[in-house]
Parts: sequence; structure tokens; C-alpha cells
Amino acid sequence: MILDVELNARLRDPTIAVRVAACIALARSGQPDAVDILIYALADWSSDVRRVACAGLGELGDRRAMEPLIKRTSDSLKQVRQAACSALGKSGDLRAVEPLIRRLDDTHVIVREAAKNALAGIMEWWQPDLGTLLCSRCLTKFEIRWTRTKAGERMAYLGCSYCSSASFGVDCSRLTAVLDSSWQSDCLLSDETLKVNWLLRQDWLGFDEVEILQAKREEVQKFLGRLKSDPDQLQKCKRIRCIVGPRLKMQDDLLRVVHSFFGRVEQTGFEDTV
Ligand SMILES: [Zn+2]
Repeated sequence: MILDVELNARLRDPTIAVRVAACIALARSGQPDAVDILIYALADWSSDVRRVACAGLGELGDRRAMEPLIKRTSDSLKQVRQAACSALGKSGDLRAVEPLIRRLDDTHVIVREAAKNALAGIMEWWQPDLGTLLCSRCLTKFEIRWTRTKAGERMAYLGCSYCSSASFGVDCSRLTAVLDSSWQSDCLLSDETLKVNWLLRQDWLGFDEVEILQAKREEVQKFLGRLKSDPDQLQKCKRIRCIVGPRLKMQDDLLRVVHSFFGRVEQTGFEDTV
């Protein structure tokens, strides 16, 4: 930690070259605080320091640096914008896609080139997993999309097939519809499974598994009614599992109907109930 204290002090040195050297040393140090200190250095009055801080954060690849780096893509100095674009390209983070697309029309060629290479880097990063990339906002698969720069050049990027944005991209191989009235969130990604709160997304089908944990009879009936309206999903349900949770007081007649919809119904955790 002595190293950090020293470097931290050097980042406040009045000489630009000292602060630049401190940023480089911090990025190489691998110290846990390096990311926070380099993010702080992104606001330095010297564009040299901001540029080197961008490059250092690109090397460290920490997700905390994403938003500060995205902000630097609008820096007043072209060299900083260039370094921020390059750092974002190394991150592979899909949140960087839209800010990079905006920089494809930068007034300076070095920034445009950096944005182009960064977009290509993110494409390369994700292409092997394209099949499992999904927009958590639209619950729609990602695809290769195209944008056209003001100069007329076409550039490929990965984005949602519905809203075209990349910002809500998640890598998930499984989708679970959850009926749980005590759950406030829209969705949750865990172990490559995206759990979607069906009570908040009642138009959506397309899941690979169902969990009915806490829901009113009318809500379960509405869910089953929605399933009936989609023959493809209804057919798919014969092959998938429905988990019925311990807190659910489902009457036998409704439980029988649920059984008739799904290939497998598992009632879990009843030993925990009073
Ligand atoms: Zn979308």
C-alpha cells in the first residue's frame, strides 16, 4: 500500500510528466485502489494525464471504469477521446457500443479510427456467444446490426434485434419466467439464467422454465391463458419444468391444470412450511 500512497501523492504533483508517470505505474501496479485513483485522474486538467489514465483503465479492464471512460469519449481533446475509445474496445462491455457508434462521426480521423477498431474488438469478443446474448429490456435475442456513418461507411455492431440497442445485453443461456408477487425487480441474471418477473411482463412468453412462487389464483390463470394463446410456446411447455414454490397456496384443481400444461411440475420446499 506504500506504493499507492506514493503514487497518489505523485498524481497531485504540479509537473505533468510526474503525474503521467504515476498513472502508468499505477496501471502496472495491479493494486486494488489503482482503478479508483485512475478514475480520479480522468478529471486532471492536463489532457496528457487524462489520456494516459484512459489507457491505464483500458489495461485494467475493471467494469467500474466504464461510465467514466464513456464520459471521456466526449472529451474536448481528440487524443483523450481516442484513448477512451480504445480503452472501451478492450473492455468488451456492451454498454460501450452506443457511445462508440456516436464517435464514428467524430471530426477527427484518429478518434473515428479508434471507435471503429473498438467496435470491431467488442464484436470479436462476443461473436462466439452471439447465440446466448439477449436484450434484458426487450427479452429479444441479439444479432449483427449495421450502422452507417455520415461519410457513408457501413459498420457492423451487436445489438438487440428489436430495439437495436446494445446497452441492455446480457449473456444468458436460459430464460425463466417467475410468478412471485413479492418480487419487485423486472429481471435478474444469475448463473447464465435470466429470471424474468412475468407479473410485470405479462405480454412476454419464450421462457425455458417457469417458477410459480407466490401468485394469486387469477394471476396463475392469466398466465395459463396467455400460454393458450401461443401454440408454439404451449407445445414447448410439454418439454419444460414448472417449479411450484412452498409459499404458494394453490388449490388442487388449479394445480391439476398446471400439471396438464407442463412436462414436469415440481413442488419444492414444502417441508419448510408450517
Ligand atoms: Zn432491446
